Order: sequence, then C-alpha cells, then structure tokens
Amino acid sequence: PAFDDGTPARAIVDLDAIRDNVSALRDHAPSADLMAVVKADGYGHGMLPAARAALAGGAHWLGVATAEEALALRAGLGPDVPVLVWLLTPGAPFAELIAAGVDVTVAAPWALDEVAAGARAAGRVARVHVKVDTGLSRNGVAMGDLPRVARRAAGLESSGEIHVVGVFSHLACADEPGHPSIDRQAAAFDAALEEMAGAGLRPEVRHLANSAATLTLPGLHYDLVRPGISVYGNSPGPLLGPPGRYGLRPAMTFEARLANVKHVAAGEGVSYGHLYTTTQDTTVGLVPVGYGDGVPRHGSGGAAGPGGPVAVGADGSGRVLRVAGRVCMDQFVLDLGPGAAERAGDVVTLFGASDGVAHGAPLPNAQDWADAAGTISYEIVTRLAPRVPRTYV
Ligand code: PLP
Repeated sequence: PAFDDGTPARAIVDLDAIRDNVSALRDHAPSADLMAVVKADGYGHGMLPAARAALAGGAHWLGVATAEEALALRAGLGPDVPVLVWLLTPGAPFAELIAAGVDVTVAAPWALDEVAAGARAAGRVARVHVKVDTGLSRNGVAMGDLPRVARRAAGLESSGEIHVVGVFSHLACADEPGHPSIDRQAAAFDAALEEMAGAGLRPEVRHLANSAATLTLPGLHYDLVRPGISVYGNSPGPLLGPPGRYGLRPAMTFEARLANVKHVAAGEGVSYGHLYTTTQDTTVGLVPVGYGDGVPRHGSGGAAGPGGPVAVGADGSGRVLRVAGRVCMDQFVLDLGPGAAERAGDVVTLFGASDGVAHGAPLPNAQDWADAAGTISYEIVTRLAPRVPRTYV
C-alpha cells in the first residue's frame, strides 16, 4: 500500500511471513506440536493478527504470559484453540481462565490452591501445566518443591478438580550453542518428569524448547515446541546466524519518511549533546521517529560508535547510513553526504525482511539495530510504540 498519507512512519506486518515461518518451524520440529508464542502483543506485531497467521501456518497452540492476553485470545479466536498462560500472580482470574478453557500454569506451590479454587468456582476441571525450574532460576517450581507439588497435583487430579495436561520448563542459554547449562537443564527436566511419574502424573504434553532449541536442538523437542521470536522471522541471536539460515524471514518492516533535508556546514555538531560532528559540508536528513516510537536511544551514533542503520533510497540502491548523533524522543538525523539526492518525503527503512547488514544484505534488520543498541532483536520489535501505526499486508 502507498505510504503518502502524510503519516511520519509505519510498521508493515507481513502476515504471510508469520504463516510461512510457522510452517518452516514445523519442518524443524516434525515430531512435535507447535505453540506459537504471541505474548506482548505478538512481540509488537499485533497479538490477534499474529495468532491468526500462526494458526494458518499450522500452529497447534498459542502461548502467552498474562491472563489478560489469554482472555483476549479466547475472545478474539473462539473456544477451540488451545491456549496456555504461564505468568500468573496470586489473585489472578483463575476461575475466568478455567471457565474460558485456557490452560493455566502452576509455577509455584501457591498456585495449586488458587487453581483448585478457580476450578470449583468455574464448575470445570482445570487444565494445568506444571512449570519446573530446571536451571533458569526464574519462574517455575523449584526442584526441591516438586515432590510435594506433584503429590498435591496428583491428589487434585484424582478428586477431579484439575487435569495435569503438561509439564514444561524454559532454557537459559539455548541461543549459545554448546553452553553447558543446556545439557544440565535437559537432565533436570528428565528428572522432573520422573519425579512426576513417581507421584502418578504422566502429562501428555512435555515442552522445553524455545526458538533456539526448536531450530538447533532436536533432541529437546519433546511433545511440543514453543517458539516466539522465530515466528516473527528473527533469529534468536547473533550466535545462531541470520534468519535465512533457517528458512525464516522477518515479518516486520519499520519505515519512515524524511521530514526535512538540508545543508549543514563542515564541523557542525548534530543533535543533542553534539555526539556527532560533520566532517564536510553535507546534507542532513531528519527521520521523524525516536525513542517515543521505540527507536532505542542506545542506537545513537557518534565518536563513541556507529548508530543504528537505516536504508535510504526507495529505488533499492542499498545505501545504508548510520544514525548521526543522538536518537531523540521523536526524531533522529542522518548524514546523507554532500549533494545528496534525497528529498523530504522520501522513504527510509530502519529494518525489514532481511538477513541484515551484518551479513552483507542491503537492508538492515532488527538484529542490526540490536547490535547497535546493545540489546536483542526481541526488544527492538516488541518495544515499537503504539503510536507507530501497524499496516497489515
Ligand atoms: N516459552 C516461554 C515460557 C517464554 O517465556 C518464551 C519467551 O520468552 C518463549 C517460550 C519463546 O521464546 P523465544 O522467543 O526465544 O522463542
């Protein structure tokens, strides 16, 4: 669609890319079912559109962090899609979740009581996944607490209040090939399964793999894989290489239109703090997006290091420039060079469907911005602010 409606910037979300990525991920894990993780507004892509596209690509399940997200999926997609929610706090709307047929996570001993109460209030058997902490030391039942949690869960199962559908855990370092914690966590997960079996629980859905493990650790796929970032076409991290290596393509393109193009003399400081100084008489272009739109301020560029990359030239000339000076709340500057042909209104692309300039591609991707800003591609796409309109294609 045209981008000449006067808006400063937009994110284009390619739903076919999400569908195709899920289909590619299923090929990476042919023996397992697939849960597309769509929390945090589908990693910034829009939760419901992303969920629908993932289901079209063959996702069997949807995974979210919060109760609100789970209920929004139910409201938007109807009663049939299996949905798991995993980050609940005391007082969470367990009865509502259970009544809506959402699978709920027990990640701490307190949760069993609330799940059982919720099941009674909903008049329905609660579908439960026990989350075990196998070494991330984040959420999940501590291995030391698992025997009593498993015994209590088995009791609630035999009295018909809950059904333990699943058991799962989450990996700390799956994006670092060969990291010793991977085998340690896998062994702990197998020990947890034995512990549960000892209590009489044999959950049919065992799941451990995030994107990195889905793509690179086939021995850890178990019954279900839970990819998130790769659904959106991004590699889990620089150590795993670009998305194209796995048949994935980034679904989001973030572009803006130059708001001002003008001459600046040599030796002038650019943007707040004068982090960047022009080295020659030049042309600068003003890009009307900043940290208020989700462009990381750590993607500023100057003497201390190159800023985030931007492709200029809608003709596909592939000219990639770096942010000149500070990223401000609403804008940043590019040094277009002497005699630049760009005009106000020209489109520039911050990131898009590419393997990234770090891998020689002419178009930056979210990982390139992550590299420039000292973060991960997850944060780049997820933090894109609500004020950036999403266009779905
Ligand atoms: N499973 C759980 C429990 C998660 O919290 C997440 C995301 O952080 C994922 C799966 C998906 O991870 P990734 O986006 O690395 O594939």
